[in-house]
Amino acid sequence: MTDSIFDRIIRREIPADIVFENDELIAFRDIAPQAPVHVLFVPKRGFATLNDVPESEAALVGRLLLAARDYARREGFAEDGYRVVMNCNRDGGQTVFHIHLHLLAGAPLTGGFA
Ligand code: 5GP
Repeated sequence: MTDSIFDRIIRREIPADIVFENDELIAFRDIAPQAPVHVLFVPKRGFATLNDVPESEAALVGRLLLAARDYARREGFAEDGYRVVMNCNRDGGQTVFHIHLHLLAGAPLTGGFA
């Protein structure tokens, strides 16, 4: 389990612009947005990287993905489109070691994303 900056957001020790929360997930706007919409979807049960997620938590990862999709639908940009990204370790560009899904939208995303 993690004790990351995202755990501190979950515990409300540091502020964040939270856009969604339920018992197992939280979503908040990225502090350094890379697109007009850039929201991070984070499981409250924190695993450091995707490599650390056991098979028994496969459904949690699925719900994380669907939470991002449902947010896109609610906000009305699902049909225009969006991108979801999870970075893993150094070569993946991961900087916060608590798994999270980036949801990017609001403009054509033609370039790369790091
Ligand atoms: P990674 O590079 O690990 O995939 O993504 C980490 C993301 O977390 C980055 O896009 C970074 O801007 C964001 N981030 C880092 N610290 C904070 C923070 O304290 N608050 C928020 N809202 N986002 C953060």
